[in-house]
Amino acid sequence: MCLSNDTVRQIVTDALREKIREKPDAKYWSVSQNDNYDYCKCPRCAAADLRYGSPAGTLLGFVNKIAASFPDKTISTLAYQYTRQAPRGIKPAKNVSVCLCSIECNRGESIEDGCADFARDVRAWSALTNHLMIWDYVVQFRSYVSPFPNWHTLQPNLQFFRQHGVNMVFEQGSGRDRSEFSDMRAYLLAKLMWNPQANMDSILTDFGDGYYGPARPAIWAYIHRLTEAVLNGDRQLTIYNIPQNEPFLDSAGMDVLNRELGQLLRTHRDDSVFINRMMGAYTPVLFARMERSKTDSTQLVAMLKWPTAQLDRNLRAFTEGCARAGIRNLHEGGYAPGQYRLDYLAYIENMRLADGVANGKRPTDHPGLHHLCQRRPERAHQQAHRRNRLPLQLAGVPGHRPPGHCDGRGERAGFNDTGFLSAGSAVVGLLSRESGV
Ligand SMILES: [Zn+2]
Repeated sequence: MCLSNDTVRQIVTDALREKIREKPDAKYWSVSQNDNYDYCKCPRCAAADLRYGSPAGTLLGFVNKIAASFPDKTISTLAYQYTRQAPRGIKPAKNVSVCLCSIECNRGESIEDGCADFARDVRAWSALTNHLMIWDYVVQFRSYVSPFPNWHTLQPNLQFFRQHGVNMVFEQGSGRDRSEFSDMRAYLLAKLMWNPQANMDSILTDFGDGYYGPARPAIWAYIHRLTEAVLNGDRQLTIYNIPQNEPFLDSAGMDVLNRELGQLLRTHRDDSVFINRMMGAYTPVLFARMERSKTDSTQLVAMLKWPTAQLDRNLRAFTEGCARAGIRNLHEGGYAPGQYRLDYLAYIENMRLADGVANGKRPTDHPGLHHLCQRRPERAHQQAHRRNRLPLQLAGVPGHRPPGHCDGRGERAGFNDTGFLSAGSAVVGLLSRESGV
């Protein structure tokens, strides 16, 4: 959308006036960019971007003019991704609120220590407006139930925002879905947002004693071990990662929780409230282990030899734990634990197939393949790709070349020639035309 075009601005102003007429009492109205990088680069917009030193200036020029038509309303706009950097030579109008988003930040350190460019943006926007809101992110969005030891950053970040005049904060977690320690995380954040100087240890101990009871020491030890592993590591902790890429998940803390919680679960097996709460803490450990097993060569080779029933018993322990803990989706795009179980089984089937091919078996000998390839390939691919947001990988069969028009990206692959299978950590395309599979 061209932000330099007066007709476009008039259309947006008229549409907003119509919306406000439907809800006249609402104070805040959002006029924001889309959630992508496809902004206008026409000569006028590009020149304005250059003049302001950031596309945020061009956006702000557009939003300020719209806000002038609604002086009794506050117009909110995002400073997000390509508009995150504050502009020069323009300020938000008095009734414009800027919502600055921290989506790219490293969560292993406080923003001030680990995300210098975002800290710079907070300071710069703070110098331009008194209406600065932060949209922050506090859970692992790629895998809601993956362990995410960012506890040590939550309070320093809120204190930093406050020091720089931020008067509104949106701490985005998993919303109506559950995620790792989502109850405790929400409780702590609610308390800290009222008072960023509050004693965090007291808040957590109060919650932990009341909610986890006898399991609190084991849970504390687990969180501290994972946090130490993050602090001692050299990798960033981001909100879109997978357990296979998280070195801190090698931590002995995983074993501590597994061992001690296992004992507590047996001791308190008749206390259903306790068991349900513990499953909220325990399922992330199971999830991380299962995910890491898929790419750990030793564990994967062992799993390929298991009877499917044994593998499925472990998967069902995870899905039943999710059910008890109220975990309905494994990531923000929606991914039910039951579907995860099926995809995991299919992934192992694929690996057995690949293992068999490598050892001289014909792919068509594999009992799982025929059924999987009967799915409508383009639909299976689109669903898997959308749900998992995973890169497409093409699994070739030795001795056969991919079709000439297939470049390895799903968008251009020949769907009629390719059967796509969802495999949990990747979308695997099995070549069909030239391989004869
Ligand atoms: Zn333009």
